[in-house]
Amino acid sequence: MMQLNIQMFAVPFRKVSKTRKRMRRAHNALVTPGMTVCKDCGAQIKPHRVCPKCGTYKGKVVVKEQEV
Ligand SMILES: [Zn+2]
Repeated sequence: MMQLNIQMFAVPFRKVSKTRKRMRRAHNALVTPGMTVCKDCGAQIKPHRVCPKCGTYKGKVVVKEQEV
């Protein structure tokens, strides 16, 4: 008979092998949300948005810097 290794309830930690524990935790890594790099200044920006640092979008200046 086929045996299913599904842990349905709390299992004593000594009963879970290092391999099985590490296989489970292999999917626990944090993933950074989608970010792209600005082509002009290289800053990390959100995709499909004007770069807040240099004011460009798709290589064109959309928002001009304020002169002080
Ligand atoms: Zn930029």
